[in-house]
Amino acid sequence: MIILLVEDEISITQLIKKGLEAESFSVDVVHDGKEGLAKAEVNRYDLIILDIMLPGIDGIEICKALRGKKIETPIIFLTARSSFEDRKLGMAAGGNDYFVKPFSFFELIKSIKNLLSKKLVQNQNNYTGDLSENKNQSNELCKRILDTAPMSIITIDKQGNITSANKYYENFSKIRDYHSDNIFTNKFFIREDLVKDYKKLLADGTTVQRENCYEKNYQGEDKYLKIVAVPLKDENGQIEGALSMALDNTESSLLKSKLQTLNRDLEAKVDQRTFKLNELNKELDKVLKLQSTFIADVSHELRTSLTIIQGNLELMSSDVSALADSKENYGQIFNEIKRIAAMLDDLISLAGTGSAAASQKINYERININHLISSACKSLKIVADAKHIAIDHKNSQNNIEIMADKSKLEKLLFNLISNAIKYNKKNGWLNVWAEIIGQEIILKVEDSGIGIGKEHMPFIFDRFYRIDKSGSRKSGGSGLGLAIVKWVTELHGGSIDVQSVVGQGTLFVVKLPLYLKQS
Ligand code: ADP
Repeated sequence: MIILLVEDEISITQLIKKGLEAESFSVDVVHDGKEGLAKAEVNRYDLIILDIMLPGIDGIEICKALRGKKIETPIIFLTARSSFEDRKLGMAAGGNDYFVKPFSFFELIKSIKNLLSKKLVQNQNNYTGDLSENKNQSNELCKRILDTAPMSIITIDKQGNITSANKYYENFSKIRDYHSDNIFTNKFFIREDLVKDYKKLLADGTTVQRENCYEKNYQGEDKYLKIVAVPLKDENGQIEGALSMALDNTESSLLKSKLQTLNRDLEAKVDQRTFKLNELNKELDKVLKLQSTFIADVSHELRTSLTIIQGNLELMSSDVSALADSKENYGQIFNEIKRIAAMLDDLISLAGTGSAAASQKINYERININHLISSACKSLKIVADAKHIAIDHKNSQNNIEIMADKSKLEKLLFNLISNAIKYNKKNGWLNVWAEIIGQEIILKVEDSGIGIGKEHMPFIFDRFYRIDKSGSRKSGGSGLGLAIVKWVTELHGGSIDVQSVVGQGTLFVVKLPLYLKQS
């Protein structure tokens, strides 16, 4: 502790200095008023002992000057002026005590100590005052920070009452009187099923973390919030409440859900495309299989015929040719050549079916269907007669006309009628007729032949399918006839049906639309 002693009487200063130092004070001595004032202004003394009657400037003025400059160092006047007026002046100027010479040194020390301890308390008070001011300032800062935070922040007590909230929360919910609000009765917390989580948080401190909680703000806008809440604990570690934050992540939520929708659409499209591709692949597989079967079948047919021709020729040119019945050999060779020629015809007819090739084109012309049936029956009459088969063309409706491809329709009729002859019994019969029913022409070829077993029905329109391979060969069949019939029918937008009883006969029914769409 340093004490400034301003006293012009040297012997008094020595005496006081000695006594104060004995009490462990440091003492700075000045004999002049102006110098004393200057020192008191510059240095922070713990106490000043001031004479009033000083050279330069008197003690009262020094005291006033110091107090005027807010220097609150305790001042004790030590003076020879003993009047009540002087004492009043001294105290009014800001002095803290007033001693008249001669004085009791003991009393002076007592006063010094008293003033110094008061000063200490005051300093402490000032310090505490500063502290609480600091605290207020930092609270203010915290509030400002929380208020500018871009998220809703609230604190709650153990009962779920909202004890404080930042501006964002107030603006968001427009509930200004948040102190009366309790999260357990708050619609948002109930609707979003958060009550259970917050009760657990307040009970055992389990952090709450939830995405995409939905809320409408006071402007009626849809908002999606990310909620995080942590426990608040007192100095003993006991949970006294919680800090709850809600971050508006509407944009990212909406973006996420948009992305999810896009993703789902994309997946659906990819699935659709994959399905279509798989279907196309299957179709392509089927076509490739058909193609390779077709080539194998054609080459098989040709090889069979060529083997028969080659065999007959070898027999005729060999040493044992004498044994050969050249008439029969020639006959067989001739038959096979006819077969090959017929098959080539059929193949040409079928070439390009299933594609958009030229053979798919229909050359429309007006055709009288009964004329067409008559001419087919006429050209096949010799074959039918050879087998004693009666051909009956029932011509009930004379003028049945159709716009169709004449040569293709001729082929269709020829194939059906020739089959009805080929697969008929000796002395059998066959009927051919056409009729109009509704918007369709119904063409029927019925025979009293060998019939077709149920098990063959699904395949008879396939290329090269023959029920009795050797029998059909003998009769010159290539297995392409019905495939051509079906193709011509479908090319004209029609359909074909078969009914058959094994051993009794077969009926082929071809339905063609009367008014064909001409392309
Ligand atoms: P093919 O040249 O062998 O006659 P098709 O394609 O015309 O070939 O006929 C396929 C098979 O269907 C024939 O081999 C035959 O077994 C059977 N078929 C066709 N038409 C008749 C019919 N009217 N009666 C009995 N079977 C028939």
